[in-house]
Amino acid sequence: MSAGKVVERLVLLGSKGGPAIRPGGPWPSSSLLEIGGRTIVVDCGLGVTRALTDAGISLKALDLVFVTHLHSDHVLELGPLIHTAWTAGLATPVTVYGPPGTGRYWRHFCETMEFDIDIRIVDEGRPDIRGLVSVEEFGEGSVVEEGGLTVTALRVDHPPVTDCFALRFEHGGTSVAFSADTAFFPPLAEFARSADILVHEAMLEEGVERLVARTGNGARLREHLFASHSLAEEAGRIASDAGVKRLVLNHLIPADDPAIGDADWVAAVRKTWPGDLTIARDGLVVQLSGAKAARGEETA
Ligand SMILES: [Zn+2]
Ligand SMILES: [Zn+2]
Repeated sequence: MSAGKVVERLVLLGSKGGPAIRPGGPWPSSSLLEIGGRTIVVDCGLGVTRALTDAGISLKALDLVFVTHLHSDHVLELGPLIHTAWTAGLATPVTVYGPPGTGRYWRHFCETMEFDIDIRIVDEGRPDIRGLVSVEEFGEGSVVEEGGLTVTALRVDHPPVTDCFALRFEHGGTSVAFSADTAFFPPLAEFARSADILVHEAMLEEGVERLVARTGNGARLREHLFASHSLAEEAGRIASDAGVKRLVLNHLIPADDPAIGDADWVAAVRKTWPGDLTIARDGLVVQLSGAKAARGEETA
């Protein structure tokens, strides 16, 4: 960071659950965490590159990328993000941490883009992107411990995906936990214990019923959603049991039903969580408590 001003913030880049996008609607999952001078991207759903630049991030600063699981709404734009950062001048190493299969995704992405990559190396004198990026596949437990930054992972309950991991980031006494995609999973409370922020996925029951009613394969969809995701009340329960300082509801399902607004989400969560609450929307900034800077531009 420059000029002594250290801003530590969380930006919800894409706030909807699921891969489909619609005119005027929100975008799939990705978040930016600026902590300890690191630029960290958590999940790479469609739109992550555009959203990072909208948040004022130089793509050349890309540093650490985490993928919670390989559902497309979390990984579809991983390759395009890194490739675009490379064409924007990325010349420093990027490490991608993801579940087993992430390395395969990256190798095949580079294969599909081989023509362009090879030609830019020769024609524009760029470093080989394949040498700039390293992929570390992780499981449960410690993922990163470097320069005061600690990242740990917890396998959560997201059938039929088995390699889906909640993540907890800690630096200088500040901690942010992400639930990833999960059904109600009580061990998350211990994992997120006393975190400054818990970003938890959430569904709204009445909204899901309407979503199911207007979708062709309604019964199957309903079954999947209730088996693999958490209701807003359940996210609130985890936050209460964990004693976090702020709950951020994210990966919202439904996210683009005009009949549902923040008040509906708040009403559901208030059954189980009386504390500080943020309902995510694309581009929303949450300043981290304990941030070294005196203030940021906006507090959510
Ligand atoms: Zn998802
Ligand atoms: Zn998922």
